[in-house]
Amino acid sequence: MTGPGPATGPGPAPGPGPAPGQPLGADVLDAAMGRALELAAAAVEWGDTPIGAVVLGPDGAVLAEAANEREKRGDPTAHAEVLALRAAAAVAGDGWRLTGATLVVTLEPCTMCAGAGVLARVAAVVYGADDPKAGAAGSLWDVLRDRRLNHRPLVTGGIRAEESATLLRAFFRARRGL
Ligand SMILES: [Zn+2]
Repeated sequence: MTGPGPATGPGPAPGPGPAPGQPLGADVLDAAMGRALELAAAAVEWGDTPIGAVVLGPDGAVLAEAANEREKRGDPTAHAEVLALRAAAAVAGDGWRLTGATLVVTLEPCTMCAGAGVLARVAAVVYGADDPKAGAAGSLWDVLRDRRLNHRPLVTGGIRAEESATLLRAFFRARRGL
């Protein structure tokens, strides 16, 4: 799946190649999003909204991955991003810090998950589809680029967005049909 390059979300338009500060190339991010989409699809099997997340180390290696498990765990905070960040810190963090890491997630993070990315000190957040109802990476709020916070990850949206949106649409359509 090699496209012409990543689509970009709101914010300063990067030139060709990785955006300034983005340590990883477009093909690495595309592959990680592919894995996140697989994880998202799996969440449907246990009744969770299809959202998947992968955390990459500074070299692009996968540190951790997770799907949304809110229903599965009965835990309101068990979003894919939070689970993946926790797992990544457990295996590779500098304590709790994920310095230089990239959080890749199929849907624009909510306020909690955007906050978790800031707290983990990830270098970058890459997401797929926009979430106009709850997105905190530019849609409703922009927690990741809020200048009042002392850490602001680089944000790239729109990576394989249509595949993520298709999964979500199918999930909600099936639910309405129940
Ligand atoms: Zn969330």
